[in-house]
Amino acid sequence: MSWFKKEAPKPEKVAPINEATKKIRTEGLWLKCDGCRQIIWKKDLESNWNVCPKCSAHMRMDAAARLRLLFDGDYETFDTALRSSDPLDFFDSKPYRERLDGMRASTSLCDAMISASGTIGGRPVNICSMEARFIGGSMGCVVGEMITRSIERSISRRIPLVIVSASGGARMQEGAVSLMQMAKISAALMRLDEARIPYVSVLTDPTTGGVTASYAMLGDLNIAEPGALIGFAGPRVIEQTIRQKLPEGFQRSEFLLKHGMLDAVVPRLEMKSYIATALRFFVD
Ligand SMILES: [Zn+2]
Repeated sequence: MSWFKKEAPKPEKVAPINEATKKIRTEGLWLKCDGCRQIIWKKDLESNWNVCPKCSAHMRMDAAARLRLLFDGDYETFDTALRSSDPLDFFDSKPYRERLDGMRASTSLCDAMISASGTIGGRPVNICSMEARFIGGSMGCVVGEMITRSIERSISRRIPLVIVSASGGARMQEGAVSLMQMAKISAALMRLDEARIPYVSVLTDPTTGGVTASYAMLGDLNIAEPGALIGFAGPRVIEQTIRQKLPEGFQRSEFLLKHGMLDAVVPRLEMKSYIATALRFFVD
């Protein structure tokens, strides 16, 4: 028996790793670009407005970032209290009302759009910016009403309108009511045209369905971002209907420009100066 007893080292107290915080620390700092397959640091991408610094692929951006990109500085938002009345009392995997509540909580938006007013190149402009994360950027009665009110503000204050589309089309949870928005917005745009106030439509990835079939294609200028998916029906549906193989790049902005569906394809970083120049041409 020894005189000196060696004490076994006490196990160090290690705080249990919280799985939730571990995820936050390690995930989402890097992204793989779909264009060049390179790994990009997310901060580099964000500081470049979600345009790949290596291959210039345009990745999706949210509605608020879009407003920061286009406006000179601060802007005022409108109609943030509008809510869908859920006219069909719709239910799929969960009730539509519940889906809306969840979306509102995760995006902090009232629906798939931000309606705002600010200046571009010093000129007052109304911008409706769509949010693709909110039920696929689908157009329901709230989006329809927000755009219509924005058009009416443009008419009464005589300031140009820009709508940035990012949408999967009409919102099926509202059935025919969402389809009626196409006619309602188109009629309001006609009044804007009669008042001789310019409207610039910016089509971003993706712009499809009822949005393409109404206001996205009704601009005095219809301009798109490079590589954006723009169409009405999906390519598979078209191939099955016409029983023909579709050409390469079909429904991408460059293809549509070549075939006369668009006026220009404008890189994101030049979008603001392009719109400012266009409005100067239209108004002054
Ligand atoms: Zn890239």
